[in-house]
Amino acid sequence: MMYQDLALYIDGEFVSGGGRREQDVINPATQEVLGKLPHATTADLDRALAAAQRAFESWKKTSPLERSGILRRVAELTRTRAREIGRDITLDQGKPLAEAIGEVTICAEHAEWHAEECRRIYGRVIPPRNPAVRQIVVREPIGVCAAFTPWNFPFNQAIRKIVAAIGAGCTLILKGPEDSPSAVVALARLFHDAGLPPGVLNIVWGVPGEISTYLIESPIVRKISFTGSVPVGKQLAALAGAHMKRVTMELGGHSPVIVFDDADIEPAAEMLARFKLRNAGQVCVSPTRFYVQEKAYDKFLARFTEVIGSIKVGNGLDDGTQMGPLAHERRIASMEQFLDNASQRGGKVVAGGSRIGDKGFFFAPTVVTELPDDSMLMTEEPFGPVAPVTRFKDTEEVLRRANSLPFGLASYVFTNSLKTAHQVSNGLEAGMVNINHFGMALSETPFGGIKDSGIGSEGGQETFDGYLVTKFITQV
Ligand code: NAD
Repeated sequence: MMYQDLALYIDGEFVSGGGRREQDVINPATQEVLGKLPHATTADLDRALAAAQRAFESWKKTSPLERSGILRRVAELTRTRAREIGRDITLDQGKPLAEAIGEVTICAEHAEWHAEECRRIYGRVIPPRNPAVRQIVVREPIGVCAAFTPWNFPFNQAIRKIVAAIGAGCTLILKGPEDSPSAVVALARLFHDAGLPPGVLNIVWGVPGEISTYLIESPIVRKISFTGSVPVGKQLAALAGAHMKRVTMELGGHSPVIVFDDADIEPAAEMLARFKLRNAGQVCVSPTRFYVQEKAYDKFLARFTEVIGSIKVGNGLDDGTQMGPLAHERRIASMEQFLDNASQRGGKVVAGGSRIGDKGFFFAPTVVTELPDDSMLMTEEPFGPVAPVTRFKDTEEVLRRANSLPFGLASYVFTNSLKTAHQVSNGLEAGMVNINHFGMALSETPFGGIKDSGIGSEGGQETFDGYLVTKFITQV
């Protein structure tokens, strides 16, 4: 089957072969090898660093209008190529084709939003104490950035970092996900074909910890952006801190869903079941801890389990597939660990509960009830198609339980009471609160977590904050 040619992208050139170490890329639906991904050598990393440093000297001086023009061309090309890029994402990541094409198409909007916003990176004039003095604040690009992006939304997570960095006037070295690399190689081709000058964007691959350490420790790099798990995020932020480098961290969560008795129970259950299984639950904002108020519990559980059980699992390229395989074998092992712990802690599996077949990384959509709050599923992000459902009595109790974990990414509330909605949205410790709705990750809205879930936002008018430094100029 045709699949993207995989390569590094350094100083405007696609490079592969040359005796570099290579890694097999596996189709998670069939376990067939799709391609060979070249790993960057130390010389490749040095070349990428030098190219990004050299390109920064001219890129930081380009007008916002010029940067905007390139981002607009990227948006156009993204829409034109969405189908072929989406197909390759289904091949190496597993999600259903419609989800993969949707992921790419929506990213054209991220490029457009940054094309518009980068023309509004304003400074300000501060009224002086002495009329002979002029006081100006300007915002300048921070410099060369290093970014590390994951495999769950391989196109989306990478383009958000690229458009923010280059829109602000920075240059970038990005390491994408080795498990699902086609989307990031496709992105390099989009920016290359849109006329981005050599060195402004560089793509490298390799052993994640080795590459990130090398780049973060390099004096050339001024800013780090990472999307991934909390433990790795803490490790990278600590290293960045040791070298006094700015960070943006988009990390994991464990999103509480709170369904009150007065909500529209069955539509909420159905909507949540489908949302939960998007990308097989491998989504940082996936609803993952379900708290349902006592009177609504049975009705909610019945409809939720019914819809979860009706979802068609299969190869993402097959018509009618609603949920694909998990992205790699590590996720299967992780789901099995969660379910072993659930059975030890008295959990009751009311749907799914195990791997499907022995070819491909398929796992049955699963619902578990009767778990204590300190069980593994209630305290650690499952990052897969497993949903624990539990009961609660009143608002005060559910807020305490929802806020009891160190995470604070997304949260979901279902109620028809304005008073409850107000009280809970004020009380939840989360970067994003959704009430009777799922409306996150749009280009014009800020996306990010608090507590252990991260530092900084992507998207919205906050999007360039992490890529700019403030300079105060005073003169007579
Ligand atoms: P992982 O923590 O090993 O890796 C997550 C991502 O970080 C991968 O893309 C990986 O290549 C990268 N990574 C790992 N170590 C790194 C390092 N030292 N330097 C730079 N990058 C590094 O876990 P995994 O098995 O791939 O995924 C499972 C967990 O990761 C999930 O439980 C979830 O919490 C988290 N995750 C979160 C997101 C998100 O969107 N926030 C995305 C993917 C994975």
